[in-house]
Amino acid sequence: MSERAGGHDSRRDELAAALAAVRERLAAACGAAGREPAEVRLLAVTKTFPAADVALLVDLGLVAFGESRDQEAAPKTAELADLRPGALARWEMVGRVQRNKVRSVVRWADRVQSVDSPRLADALAAAARSARAAGERSTDLEVLLQVSLDGDPARGGCLPADVDVLAERVAGSEGLDLRGVMGIAPLDGDADAAFAVLSQVAARIRGEHPRAVELSAGMSADLEVAVRHGSSCVRVGTALMGGRPLAST
Ligand SMILES: *Cc1c(COP(=O)(O)O)cnc(C)c1O
Repeated sequence: MSERAGGHDSRRDELAAALAAVRERLAAACGAAGREPAEVRLLAVTKTFPAADVALLVDLGLVAFGESRDQEAAPKTAELADLRPGALARWEMVGRVQRNKVRSVVRWADRVQSVDSPRLADALAAAARSARAAGERSTDLEVLLQVSLDGDPARGGCLPADVDVLAERVAGSEGLDLRGVMGIAPLDGDADAAFAVLSQVAARIRGEHPRAVELSAGMSADLEVAVRHGSSCVRVGTALMGGRPLAST
C-alpha cells in the first residue's frame, strides 16, 4: 500500500473514531435530558480542514457541513462536488458575513446561521433573489438569527431584545426563509445561563414564526449543556476534526 493510501485510510479511521465519540456524547446528553438523539442534528464544522476531509465525512454518512469564511468555503464546496459528484451535501455559513461577500455566499450556502442585522438580511435577500434569477440556486436562502449571548454585539449576534424585529424583517423578505436562531456561549462565561436565554428567545420567535424551529447551540466544549437547553443543531469542529491553528478559531 502506498504511503498516500495509508495516510488516507488512517485519516478516515481517525474521523470515524471521532465521529463515533461525538455521537456517543450526543446520545448520552440526550439520554440525560430525556430527549431522542434524532432530535439533535450534527453539523460538522470543517473550517480550516481540506475538502478531502469533507469527502471522508460524506463517506461516513454526514450530510451537513459548516464553514465560517467565504474565501475558504467557496472553493471547498466546489472541490467537494468534484471529489464526490452527486453527494448529498448541505453547506451552512456559521461565521460573520461581510456584506461584500453576500453574492458569493448565496452561491454555495444552503443556510446562513449568522444573520444579525437588518442590513445584512436585506443584502442576503437581494443576493439570493438574483442568484435564483441567474439559476445559481434553486431555493430560498435559509436563515438563522444569531443572538448575542455575551452582551457584546461587536462580537457578532444581535441583542436578545432586538431579535423580534429582525425576525419580522427576515420573515417578510422575499428570497429568505426564517428557520430559527443560533447562539455562541461566551468565551469565559456561563454556557448554562447563556443557553437558557437563547432557548427563551427561540421559543418566542417560534411562537410568531412556526417554521423557525431550529435552535442552533453547542460546540465541542459545551454540546451537553446545549442539548439540555433544547438544542436542535450542534456545531462541532474540534471534537470531530481535531485541533485548528489558533489564528483561525
Ligand atoms: C468554529 C465554530 C464552531 C465549532 O467550534 P468547535 O469548538 O471547534 O467545535 C461552531 N460554531 C461556530 C460559529 C464556529 O465558528
